[in-house]
Amino acid sequence: MVKAPLRLGTPLASLALAVVYAAAAYGSLRLFALVNAQASPVWPPTGIAIAALVLWGIRLWPGVLAGAFVANLLVALDPLPGATQASLATAALSSLAIAGGNVIEAVAAAAIVRSKGGGGACCRSATAAAWFIAAALLAPVASASVGAATLVAAGQAAAAEAGTVWLTWWLGDVGGALVVAPFAIAWMAAPPRIIRATEWLGIQAAAATAAVLVFVADLEVLRNAPLSFLLLPFVAWSAMRLQLHGVAVTVALVAVAATAGTVARVGPFAVLPPHAALLALQAYLAVVASTGILLASTSAENRHTQAELKGERTELERRVLERTLAIAAKQAEVEFARKGLEEAQAMAHLGSWTWDVPQNKVEWSAELCRIYGVPPGSERSYDGYLALLHPDDRAAVDATVRRAFATGGPFEVRHRIVRPDGTTRWVIGNGRAEQDAAGKVVRMSGTALDVTELRTTEERFRTLLEASPDAYVVADAAGRIVLANRQAERLFGYERDELLRLAVEDLVPEALRQRHVGHRAHFMAAPSVRPMGIGMDLRARRKDGSEVPVEISLSPLATADGMQVFAAVRDITDRKRAEAEVAETRRLAAANEKLAALGTLVAGVGHEVRTPLTYIATNAALVRLRIEKAAATGAPAAGILPEVERPLASIREGVGRIDRIVQQMRQFAKAELKAEVGSLEEAVAGALELWRATHRGGTEVEATLQPLPRMRFDKGQVQQVLINLLNNASEAMGGGGRATVRVGPDRGQALVEVADHGPGIPPDVQRRVWDPFFTTKPEGTGLGLSVSRRIVEAHGGSLAYETSSRGTTFRVRLPLEPPAGPPGSGPEGAA
Ligand code: ADP
Repeated sequence: MVKAPLRLGTPLASLALAVVYAAAAYGSLRLFALVNAQASPVWPPTGIAIAALVLWGIRLWPGVLAGAFVANLLVALDPLPGATQASLATAALSSLAIAGGNVIEAVAAAAIVRSKGGGGACCRSATAAAWFIAAALLAPVASASVGAATLVAAGQAAAAEAGTVWLTWWLGDVGGALVVAPFAIAWMAAPPRIIRATEWLGIQAAAATAAVLVFVADLEVLRNAPLSFLLLPFVAWSAMRLQLHGVAVTVALVAVAATAGTVARVGPFAVLPPHAALLALQAYLAVVASTGILLASTSAENRHTQAELKGERTELERRVLERTLAIAAKQAEVEFARKGLEEAQAMAHLGSWTWDVPQNKVEWSAELCRIYGVPPGSERSYDGYLALLHPDDRAAVDATVRRAFATGGPFEVRHRIVRPDGTTRWVIGNGRAEQDAAGKVVRMSGTALDVTELRTTEERFRTLLEASPDAYVVADAAGRIVLANRQAERLFGYERDELLRLAVEDLVPEALRQRHVGHRAHFMAAPSVRPMGIGMDLRARRKDGSEVPVEISLSPLATADGMQVFAAVRDITDRKRAEAEVAETRRLAAANEKLAALGTLVAGVGHEVRTPLTYIATNAALVRLRIEKAAATGAPAAGILPEVERPLASIREGVGRIDRIVQQMRQFAKAELKAEVGSLEEAVAGALELWRATHRGGTEVEATLQPLPRMRFDKGQVQQVLINLLNNASEAMGGGGRATVRVGPDRGQALVEVADHGPGIPPDVQRRVWDPFFTTKPEGTGLGLSVSRRIVEAHGGSLAYETSSRGTTFRVRLPLEPPAGPPGSGPEGAA
């Protein structure tokens, strides 16, 4: 349906319609009204009115009323020659009545066309065309009836003429409706779709030519020949090829030519009297137009159906293609998923199977076939499956599967298989039986996991565990033993199953059990690899209550059952024994060494003491001889004295020398230090004073004393060391020269340095300076340095020297902190 394109609004549109209507109506009446001035056999206004109301709405009916009224009034007031002039009132009244009939006609026809005939798109189907033709035939009944009655009533037509007037009126309106309305509606509603312009023009030209020849040309040979049917093929041709737009033009051409010819009294209808000729022409045009409309609508419907069919076929093909593509995509997806599953199975060494019980169809995945070493896709059966199992495991697996089949639900079984190539694999089989509502198993499915590698690793681990010389015990967080090896059985004296019922505390000596629980909790709170009980003598308790020395190292073990402790326990009984033996051997060796040293010492002492003893004995014998000689001669005792003076002096010297040796030896052998807290620099200053006081040579000592923290030391012994070193320094410089003493802190220690400018210690002497009794001096004891070193070392310090041809420096280093150990502990007794 076409919406009103007018924007001017209904009144303006109605006015325009009124003007067009009035013009067409007046023209028609003046041209064709022969029987009665107001009844024309050719009446295009009906077509115009129907087209306008169909296209722009019934609401334009006032335009029809006004147009018809004005045209009729004009004609009534200006009658044909010979007719009676009606009064104005009568003319107006009758014109209004006639216009009313025209309105009823136009509104009725437009309503039918709008509701049943397709409206603006009228005559697209045969049914719509039939409704249109029906409207064009029926609606004019109203107009003709009202018109004829009005004319008779108004006295403008004789009652006897009423029938002719009615027929004229009706036919005129029908012709106008069928010829003008389709033309106007088709062309104003939408432009034509002219695909082949030459065909279009050709058909119209042919029709026009035929119409002119038949109706207008008035050729001698064809004069008044009843050839009006000749136009029918052209109308049919136009209708089939050019649709409503085209046939409307063709009909219009025929109508114009036929009307023109008939009015000019030529052509097939001119044989009739003028009015009858016009009536026959109208009937003819009505038939031609109806035929054209029906054919055009059928053709349009055909094309529409074909186009629809074609559209439907295309749509169908599109859907088929779409569906095909969707299926292909789905298949690709499924294939992709299958490939993915296969790859995942291969990676996990996990195969799967299903058994459709009612169909007895067994399917194995590619990976399952690979695990079992059988070609993929081959026929599978339960017996064939059982045959692949290890003979020792077959019965157990069979029983498990049968149980699951009987009771439904899942199962798991760990077993071996023997592949066709003879290799054995370990597999964990999982499965599930699905039952229907009646409890019948309809499907079984499952997986098989190849755990051979895992098994091998496990076995290797077990072998390692069992072969280890150490005992291994694994305990859970609660301290329960969950794993133990053979060595553990041996160490603790329990059978393995007994161990697995014990807690780790059962392996700990009773006295320590309570504490061990705490240690265990502590380890669990911060698990790490570490030895147990550092610095402690660990002991394990055996089943018989005896205890074994052990060494234990702990490792945390994160397992699926939570944190566990892995304890490696080593029996160290043998090592302890060996250690004790080594210690004993060492002690004996030390004792032997001491004995040897004692021998050396005794030899040295013997040698040293024998010399003075010899000359003491010789001089004593000499004194005795003098006394005996004096007694024999009777000489006075006083006279002897000068003679024995020298031997006695020698004896004194010898005794003094022995006394020095004994003194030094006592020093050497002194059993303990008398350590006290004091100032080292003060002790050194005291020793220097003492040395200067007793020194008989000309050696000068230059001292630098830096303050030191107070420290523990044996003052007398340290002073002895300093005096020994000063004596050596002075002797190295031939009793003169200048020695330097320095005291102060050095690298966290107390340093006492004694330096001289002597000739240095020759290499062969250097090797022996620390040996007791080694001396290069005629009067030396060879004990000074060895004694000094013992003293310094007893303080936890060290004594060393640095020597060159320009002099020698001895350095005493003493710890500022006293050595560990009970105060007063000193060097062991001299051997
Ligand atoms: P003694 O002084 O009684 O010989 P010591 O044990 O004190 O015994 O010294 C051993 C030897 O070391 C000395 O005889 C000497 O040859 C050498 N010696 C010690 N101190 C020095 C020194 N400052 N310069 C050179 N030689 C030294």
